[in-house]
Amino acid sequence: MSRANQAKLDLSALRHNLAHARTLAPASRVMCVVKANGYGHGAVEVATALDPLTDALAVACIEEALELRENGITSPIMLLEGCFESEELVIAAEHNFWVMIDNQRQLEWLEQTRLPAPVTCWLKINTGMHRLGVSPGDAAAFHQRLLDNDNTHGEIVTCTHFACADELDNPMTSDQLQQFAKVTEALPGPRSAANSAGVLAWPHSHYDWIRPGYMLYGNSPLKTTHPNTTGLRPVMTLESAVISVREIETGETVGYGANWTAQRPSRIATVSIGYGDGYPRMAANGTPVLVKGKRAPLAGRVSMDMITVDVTDLDEVNIGDRVVLWGKDLPVAEIAQRADTIGYELTTRMPARTPRVIV
Ligand code: PLP
Repeated sequence: MSRANQAKLDLSALRHNLAHARTLAPASRVMCVVKANGYGHGAVEVATALDPLTDALAVACIEEALELRENGITSPIMLLEGCFESEELVIAAEHNFWVMIDNQRQLEWLEQTRLPAPVTCWLKINTGMHRLGVSPGDAAAFHQRLLDNDNTHGEIVTCTHFACADELDNPMTSDQLQQFAKVTEALPGPRSAANSAGVLAWPHSHYDWIRPGYMLYGNSPLKTTHPNTTGLRPVMTLESAVISVREIETGETVGYGANWTAQRPSRIATVSIGYGDGYPRMAANGTPVLVKGKRAPLAGRVSMDMITVDVTDLDEVNIGDRVVLWGKDLPVAEIAQRADTIGYELTTRMPARTPRVIV
C-alpha cells in the first residue's frame, strides 16, 4: 500500500475564485497567472480549467508557455519576464505568446528581428519596486517605439507591479498608483496594475486588466483580514494519515534534536508526511494540523518523511486517521506564517513525490 499523501485539487474552487475576481473588478479583463507549475498546483491542470474562462494566462518564461500550448491551451499566454534572447520572439510570434517588454535590449531585439507574425507587447514601467520595468522618464519613448514597430500587434498595454499591496496600511501602493497614473495618463492604450492584493483591496488599481495569481488558488495575500477574501475557496488540500500512535511520560522528548518535551502524560501521533513531501521543515512546535477535522499541534521537529503531533486532547486517534496539513479550515498562509515564509512558497515548492489528485 502506498503512503496516504495527496495534494487534492478542487478545480471548481479555482473557477469560483476566478469568478470572484471578476465580480470585484467587473470592468477589467483577466490575465490568470499560472507560472511555476500553477503555483505548484499543476500548470496544465490549472490552465486547462481556466482556459475557457480567462482572457489570457501568464507564465514566467517560454518553456512554461510551450508546455501549455503543447497541452492544448489556446488562450493568449503572457511571458511575464519578457524574453531572454531574440529567438524567443520568433517562438512567441508563432504561438501567440504575449511579451512583456521591460528593457532596452528586448526593445532592440523586437526592432531588429524578422518575425513570422506581429506579437502583442505590454510595456512594464518601474514605479518603485525596482525589480523590472523601464523608468517613468523613459516610458513614453518606449511606448512610441513599440507602437511604431511593425513587429508589434495592436495596442500597447502599459503595466506596473506592486511591492507592498499585501499591506493595507503601507503608503507605497498609493505612491506607486499615483506614479503609474501620472506616467500613463498621456499614453494611449489599456493599463494594468493589480496582482491579487490589488484585486482584493485596491479598487483603484483595477484598470483594464487585472493579473491575479495567488487568489485564484483560494488564498489571500493580505496581511490582515478583509471582507473581499471571505469568498475565496482553497484549491489545494494537502492530506496525509496517521501511521503510529504512542503514549509518552511527562519529561520525555519527541523527534530530532529532542526539541519538544511532554509537560504531561501525552499521546503522540506520527503522520507520514515531511519536508520531502512539501511540508515545511521550519514549521514550529504548535503549528496546527487537522486530525479527523480537529486541530492538534505539531510536537517535535519536522522530519523528511514524517511529522509528530500532540493528540492528547483529541478523543480517539487511530492509525489510518486522515490528517489535513492545509486546505479548507486551515489556510496555507497560517501554516506558512508558523514556518516563517508565505503560502506562495509552500504550494509552489510541492514536490513531484506528492501526487496531485483532482477531486
Ligand atoms: N503580475 C506579475 C508581473 C507578477 O510577477 C505576479 C506574480 O508574482 C502576478 C501578477 C501575480 O501576483 P499574485 O500571485 O500576488 O496575484
